[in-house]
Amino acid sequence: MAETTAVKTGMPAPPKKAEDEIPQLTGLIPKPKIVRGTAAHYKAYVAKPEIQEKLDFPGSLVDNWEEAAVRRLGELLEKYKSLQVYLDICVRCGSCTDKCHYFIGTKDPKNMPVARQDLLRKVYRKYFTLEGKVLGSLVGAIGFDLELLAEWYSYFHQCSQCRRCSLYCPYGIDTAEISMAAREIMDSIGMGQKYTNEIIGKVHEIGNNLGLNPKALANSLENVEEEIEEDTGAPVKLPLDVEDADILLVTPSADFFALPHVESLIGYAKVFHQAGVNWTLSSTASEAGNFGMFIGSYDQMKKVALRVRQAILELRPKRLVVGECGHAWRIAYSFWNTLIGPFDMLDPKYPRPQHICEFTLDLINRGALELDKSANDEFVVTFHDSCNVARASRMGDRPGGQFDIPREVIKAVVNRYVDMEEDAIKERTFCCGGGGGLLTDELLDLRIKGAYPKVQALRNIMDTHEVNFMALICAICKAQFTKVLPKFNIPMTVAGGVHQLVGRAVVLGAKE
Ligand code: SF4
Ligand code: SF4
Repeated sequence: MAETTAVKTGMPAPPKKAEDEIPQLTGLIPKPKIVRGTAAHYKAYVAKPEIQEKLDFPGSLVDNWEEAAVRRLGELLEKYKSLQVYLDICVRCGSCTDKCHYFIGTKDPKNMPVARQDLLRKVYRKYFTLEGKVLGSLVGAIGFDLELLAEWYSYFHQCSQCRRCSLYCPYGIDTAEISMAAREIMDSIGMGQKYTNEIIGKVHEIGNNLGLNPKALANSLENVEEEIEEDTGAPVKLPLDVEDADILLVTPSADFFALPHVESLIGYAKVFHQAGVNWTLSSTASEAGNFGMFIGSYDQMKKVALRVRQAILELRPKRLVVGECGHAWRIAYSFWNTLIGPFDMLDPKYPRPQHICEFTLDLINRGALELDKSANDEFVVTFHDSCNVARASRMGDRPGGQFDIPREVIKAVVNRYVDMEEDAIKERTFCCGGGGGLLTDELLDLRIKGAYPKVQALRNIMDTHEVNFMALICAICKAQFTKVLPKFNIPMTVAGGVHQLVGRAVVLGAKE
């Protein structure tokens, strides 16, 4: 938290940050010994009033914040029965304690999922349970004060909402839902997080996380077209705002120019080109990501997602395909239908929406793409399952499709593929360490520590099988790994998109 903001909100300023050590890669993903307080200094910057007010949140901490926070918690308990159940049923069995990558990386016991939940649970007990009202701290009920609010702010922004802990909880308690509720409460009292809220505001104003206006977007797409033509000689197009196209592609804005993301955009374009489909991007829906989920706000999620509906109404595509982005796919798969659907205007013969991997695999299986696997012979490839795809959605029409479909696509375009250890993939995958609204520079040291378990699994497969490419289907994973892998002496080029590999293998012109 910025010192000035800390003073303004009356919260204690964080201690000066010591130089953080990079965790050592020893070959094992350890069960850490507890070291108290190691993560207390990680603080995401608090949003300034102008950022908050654009989202209709109070600009700074409101005077009666304790009362307002408790009132908001009461509203959320009414609205989400699951939240109350999660707060009531924990038996403190400890199964979740060592499952969080931030605990493994920081060793701070407050990053154990159950301890994170308890930050909210103690307030819940104090104000909403009889035993808490009568027995107070004897039953873990604590009144909300500035010290506890500072802990909320710190540790609820050290949860990437990856849901790995919930997999190991015998009761399925979802810490992600609790941290979303905590963030929603903090927003409602004027303690929003700068990174997420600034981005949401940018989407409302301009249309995407990167703040690319339609002209800049069109220029960027033209540049990519020129690059593809220079590289291949083929006139592969990236159409924008074409009406009545077969397919509208909604993809994260990072795909439009950031590396390695743009390589996947090139891959999608080559697939569409070879399939001979009439497709388009939209300047209205120029962002698949939706940070409304990270702050637990369905209102913000809906407002962001409505741009997709608006684009469908404007352009009248028959199908809706979503590019490589983990949390975006969760929202598209699990929420769009109720948030902005139904999609009666789209062709019911196809999934509404469909993941780009499913789309590409269907073409591969039908023999509609000519592929040259040898184009990727310099790589031994592994795949990182993104949390929001692995544990919060599906792909295709079969259980486990979210695991098999991307792997089948990869195996169709490379000769050498190997999976990481079982405990680090599929439903047990570790987060990249940058999800859930934590992909911000002031949290870089935390992100490195959070990435550590997955990087260890990657290092192991690099050492045993000479893996040199980790394929990803998430914009946040791409941004996070390219930034943190070099900290572990792994080149950033090891991280790239699934459609980066596809794009290299597509033989342009072969099926035209
Ligand atoms: S949801 Fe993920 S980041 Fe949050 S506590 Fe659980 S394991 Fe940790
Ligand atoms: S695994 Fe579930 S019940 Fe056990 S301590 Fe963790 S949250 Fe509580």
